[in-house]
Amino acid sequence: MFAPFPGQYIDIHTHISWNYPHIFSIKSLVKPSEIEDYKTSETAISIGLHPWYIVPGKEHAIIAKLKSIAVEPDVMAIGECGIDLKIETAYGFQEKIFLKQAEIAEEVKKPLIIHCVRAYQQLAKLMVQNKPGVPWIFHGFNHNEQVAEELIKQGAYLSIGADLLKDNSKISKSFIKLPMDYIFLETDEWQQPVWKLYAEASRLLSVTDKVLKEAIFQNYQRCFGLVKEV
Ligand SMILES: [Zn+2]
Repeated sequence: MFAPFPGQYIDIHTHISWNYPHIFSIKSLVKPSEIEDYKTSETAISIGLHPWYIVPGKEHAIIAKLKSIAVEPDVMAIGECGIDLKIETAYGFQEKIFLKQAEIAEEVKKPLIIHCVRAYQQLAKLMVQNKPGVPWIFHGFNHNEQVAEELIKQGAYLSIGADLLKDNSKISKSFIKLPMDYIFLETDEWQQPVWKLYAEASRLLSVTDKVLKEAIFQNYQRCFGLVKEV
């Protein structure tokens, strides 16, 4: 099992292999081929079937394989998986595949990393209905404080990426209103290291880098530490 140590920057969701001693990152594997070809990794990973890569007819085999590897010690979380209303795959089908993965996360007691595009209402409703016992971490969160509040009320965590650096993004405006004990930072597909996001986030919050690191480290412990002890 991998874990960050105090003082490290945590990049909760990335598709890039970062190799800096002061960054702890969770690399996300999301394609059917990445699930099929899974081999124990030397670094922390999350693994799940992304809604973009659902191939009807192949989902049972992929989910079965995911279920068999979810217990592996290098797998820190399940996902990213989720719902994307910008793609053509039917909502019902996406929801079904998502819930199967949410079920796996419950079985192995690991957090779920969620991809959510234009589906906040639907996912908030699924949280109410399912009352997950493991943390649901909404990655790439870029919305206003009302949506944030609704999700946090259900126990969700929000992970924020490079949209934070865009002047007109929703998250650059709502960020300072979010409770620090429910946030993570991530690079996703952004090619720059996560400490650049820490710098901007601590500037917006008027806290030191150290304070922000400690807050996110504690969030990590709460999400990943506690669920492991259950
Ligand atoms: Zn991603």
